[in-house]
Amino acid sequence: MLLNLTILPGDGIGPEVTEQAVLVLQAAAGAFGHQLQLRHKNIGGAALAVAEDPLPADTVQACLSSSAVLMGAVGNPAFDHYPNHLRPEAGLLRLRRELGAYANLRPAICFPALEDCSPLRSDLVRGTDIMIVRELLGGLYFGEPRSIAGAPGSRVATNTMTYGEPAIERITGVAFELAEKRRKKVLSVDKANVLECSRLWREVVIRCAKDYPGVQLSHMYVDSAAMSLVQRPKDFDVVLTENMFGDILSDQAGGVVGSLGLLASASIGGPVGLYEPVHGSAPDIAGKGIANPLGAILSAALLLRHSFQLEREAACIENAVSAVLNQGSRTADIARSGQSRIATSEMGRNVVEAVKASQAKQKSA
Ligand code: NAD
Repeated sequence: MLLNLTILPGDGIGPEVTEQAVLVLQAAAGAFGHQLQLRHKNIGGAALAVAEDPLPADTVQACLSSSAVLMGAVGNPAFDHYPNHLRPEAGLLRLRRELGAYANLRPAICFPALEDCSPLRSDLVRGTDIMIVRELLGGLYFGEPRSIAGAPGSRVATNTMTYGEPAIERITGVAFELAEKRRKKVLSVDKANVLECSRLWREVVIRCAKDYPGVQLSHMYVDSAAMSLVQRPKDFDVVLTENMFGDILSDQAGGVVGSLGLLASASIGGPVGLYEPVHGSAPDIAGKGIANPLGAILSAALLLRHSFQLEREAACIENAVSAVLNQGSRTADIARSGQSRIATSEMGRNVVEAVKASQAKQKSA
């Protein structure tokens, strides 16, 4: 199969982790006889530096004409004083909209080798396997009006949370279909005791759930969900929620399973899928070569699964990640005291070797 991809390394640690994800994709493509066609484009601060636009037209065009997009991260403190629409993060929000990517899947899995990385007791976190399904094109991130207005000293800031029934229906469908292939549980997270958006959300989710009689639906307010996530993470299966609640809960889930650097995401629903690690550009560690590339590498696995239906190839990468963790490979964020810490590039190389080894083993079997 020809895998025609646009690569958006972005800012900070984005290029460092994306480079490793691409090497792993190349290894997997080679092992399974696929051909990769890659185009690298700018987004975020990297684009602003050369084009004064965080999402240049040629980046959008390249993304829309490829079969899938792999991104690193955006965000650069040098642009923090820019107006909102010119900040690096605005480029990513626009890209999600251009791609029609309304469903953001964020798996949070506790790898057995990393049980002791969680700040929670091993017996609490062992077996955690959560799929957060976050609505990605609505809510506060896109709602209008939005502004900071008025004279200094008496300025007023406004954001708007809006959700329409069709947007809730389509993301609910994604969550229930995923749940049917998992443990058949959907937890819908809202704030229906306070917000009108959440009341409509809950009503529509309950209506849509009737189409999936085999899946058990429950509801939680977001504050209570945040507490339960650290008290009993393994009770969670599919978590269905709106844009901002999903953003916050998925970072929390990253903390629960050991590190934000491990979390991958898929943004799907439109004609072209967008795959990126959950973490940001991590300016505090950018350029040091110590970032954990596994979130980016696992995003590449999601890309193969969701954009190309290459389940064996995706599983091969996921198994390779498990294997290197079992062998003791640790970047700084997941190393315990006394464990040696390897660089971003070495972690990537170890996963590449594990992909090649698993394929060689299959061939000889
Ligand atoms: P962040 O995710 O960049 O970093 C949070 C913390 O986690 C930092 O201490 C960082 O060092 C650590 N971390 C993150 N990824 C890591 C990895 N792969 N390996 C090891 N440690 C890792 O979040 P932040 O600091 O709140 O934001 C920094 C910038 O990134 C901001 O400009 C923000 O807007 C942007 N951001 C972008 C995205 C995105 O591109 N999707 C997501 C979140 C934040």
